Amino acid sequence: MTFVFDNSYARLPERFYARLPPSPVVRPSLIRLNRPLARELGLDPDALSGPDGVAVLAGNRVPEGADPLAMAYAGHQFGNFVPQLGDGRAILLGEILDRSGARFDLQLKGAGRTPFSRAGDGRAWLGPVLREYLISEAMHALGIPTTRALAAVATGEQVYREGPLPGAVLARVARSHVRIGTFEYFSAREDTDGLRQLADYVIDRHYPETRASDRMYLALLNAVIERQADLVARWLGVGFIHGVMNTDNLSIAGETIDYGPCAFMDEYHPGTVYSSIDHAGRYAYGNQPRIAQWNLARLAQTLLPLLDEDPDRALALAQEAIDGFPGRFERAYLQVFRAKLGLLESRDGDGALITALLEGMAKVGADFTNRFRVLTQVIETGESMPGLEPHETDPFADWVVRWRARLAQEDADPDERLTRMRRANPVVIPRNHRVEDALEAAVEGDLDPFEQLLAVLTNPWQEGGETHAYTSPPKPHEVVRQTFC
Ligand code: AMP
Ligand code: MG
Ligand code: MG
Repeated sequence: MTFVFDNSYARLPERFYARLPPSPVVRPSLIRLNRPLARELGLDPDALSGPDGVAVLAGNRVPEGADPLAMAYAGHQFGNFVPQLGDGRAILLGEILDRSGARFDLQLKGAGRTPFSRAGDGRAWLGPVLREYLISEAMHALGIPTTRALAAVATGEQVYREGPLPGAVLARVARSHVRIGTFEYFSAREDTDGLRQLADYVIDRHYPETRASDRMYLALLNAVIERQADLVARWLGVGFIHGVMNTDNLSIAGETIDYGPCAFMDEYHPGTVYSSIDHAGRYAYGNQPRIAQWNLARLAQTLLPLLDEDPDRALALAQEAIDGFPGRFERAYLQVFRAKLGLLESRDGDGALITALLEGMAKVGADFTNRFRVLTQVIETGESMPGLEPHETDPFADWVVRWRARLAQEDADPDERLTRMRRANPVVIPRNHRVEDALEAAVEGDLDPFEQLLAVLTNPWQEGGETHAYTSPPKPHEVVRQTFC
């Protein structure tokens, strides 16, 4: 089993991390390997699923060329600053270049205690590991930037939470694991050299195009803002609620990262919260753009010493960049929702049309995913309201008339419209009740529901047949109201 590592983060100064290997586990066994992803990364899936490969994925063997470390970072958790968090249960094995030359972190989550563990045990248990596997792969299939799951391994050890639970390790792949919180770590220590080295590193790795700018660090800030605006708009387009949008969980590369008590919404309501730890609804579905802006303001604050020698000038530049977020978000949001409505051109009033639809949906508690599928079916069949219950049609019928009038303003190719709409309106999302069922079965030792759900989520636009069980909203007794990390 050979990996070709090139560990750029490990070449940064020692104070950026703690160097240490993963802690071995008693009896590693492979639960699942993401074979297509392994191949993309230039890794041999057969070797990875053999004993040597599984030993690496479990943290029992450090492969040649790896330079394992736990990254240092800080972060605002639910608005409160914590000057030191860091990888308390994750080990970055190293970086590999995929077949196209793109650089990826290979990280083991649940790999044992580190100097950043505080009171934690450094471990993860099977439920959340498989949850992250399912949801991150679903996000990837939906075309949303995300970390990915390379493998899940059972440790043969027990992890103690409320009681004993089966332990597991997730092998995770990311563009990088640098977060807003990484910048906050150096800022809190007034370590401007460290901050500058981190910013230069991020520019080289993720935003090389900003290097040519005469205000390089401002260009970096704007580029990060742009990617976050785009990411959150895409989340809203599929009804995704991250659940823990703390600054340490916000990737500088613009990927969705750290799948804890996240969820996809069933019934549409902007105030929807699933996360069991989000008591005040800070990270509710509809708050996510505002929170992203708040998080980006924390990033901007850390960059002040790099933006300009004159502190007032630096502050003005940072403020201007942050003030640009709502406009950038609005553009990204309109692009996502226009596609969902089959609008290929932009017109004044599109925002109001989208809002009217969503308000109507909130009023009747329409299923978010399926209601947008209905719109696709309206285009497919020419019917006004295919498959809707009579009570559902009231606010919707008037809206459909308005929408059709708007569609008629475009001289669009019907096939192109339909293709784009299908792409924007998935048939299958990881519905909470299906996810919970699959995880419960897996913990009992039956991986079939997990495998079946994963297969369906990997092709979210597939219609009919087997997918029916996965497209139905939960029955009242199946509704999942809270998700846990
Ligand atoms: P999260 O809520 O996953 O973003 O984690 C916040 C912080 O808690 C990070 O520093 C994690 O590394 C740390 N952490 C979470 N779970 C554990 C655990 N079981 N053991 C040690 N550290 C943990
Ligand atoms: Mg985290
Ligand atoms: Mg987490």
